Amino acid sequence: MNEKYTIIVGLLCLAALALLPGAVCADDDLLDDDVLFQVSTIDALMQGVFDGFYSFHDLQAHGDFGIGTFDSLDGEMIAVDGDYYQVKADGVAYPVQGNMTTPFSTVTYFKADQTIAVQNASNYTMLSRQIDQKLPSKNMFYAIRIDGTFPYVKTRSVPAQKKPYPRLADATKNQSVFEFSNVTGTVVGVWASEFSKGLNVAGYHLHFITADRKAGGHILDLKVDRADVKVDVTPGFAMQLPTTGDFYNVDLSQDLQSELKKIEN
Ligand code: ZN
Repeated sequence: MNEKYTIIVGLLCLAALALLPGAVCADDDLLDDDVLFQVSTIDALMQGVFDGFYSFHDLQAHGDFGIGTFDSLDGEMIAVDGDYYQVKADGVAYPVQGNMTTPFSTVTYFKADQTIAVQNASNYTMLSRQIDQKLPSKNMFYAIRIDGTFPYVKTRSVPAQKKPYPRLADATKNQSVFEFSNVTGTVVGVWASEFSKGLNVAGYHLHFITADRKAGGHILDLKVDRADVKVDVTPGFAMQLPTTGDFYNVDLSQDLQSELKKIEN
């Protein structure tokens, strides 16, 4: 998908150079690699806007890496190295089909700009603090990737919801929780600035998938002995909003931060 896109951009660029003397072709990086592409908003998801409207076929054109969820909130999405997975409430990671849809996702083409060494992080908060100290700015979006063996990872997934959809906080009351010990795998996530509150999860939002790509989920807690955290700085931001379903009428004027904190970890 990415290669095809690059070729098309390259051809358009050659055409522009032929027609417009002095034209300069844009850096590929700014066209795709460094854009965080988001579907819908976290506050809509918080209020039960769970109808999938954006296909994974289309989403895959915007990134090879990212996190999200599925139509009717049917599990946790992890995209890594161009492969998309659905961790359902049974804890199993299933391959995602292109005709499936998402109500909320964030993806990018991952290319590490920075590596942050962390060690002896005994829980999520300690890990966050170590990474926080090394992030170049608090006013940015980052994609975060950690490959390694983790002493402990605790994840969750959620079962598909039925209409009328509950709020996310009520849906997660029925979440399944999974605990992994000495597990090898990949942490896939996003760090978003405080200014993006309401649009996305401010701070860390991390998912996990095992090295055999068979299990994982939304990370509730983890321990890290020693790992290299890869950070992709993504100064570009694009957002696709639904034009159908509950989104048009949901009230997005409220501050839902305290409700969000209770369910994220
Ligand atoms: Zn999540």
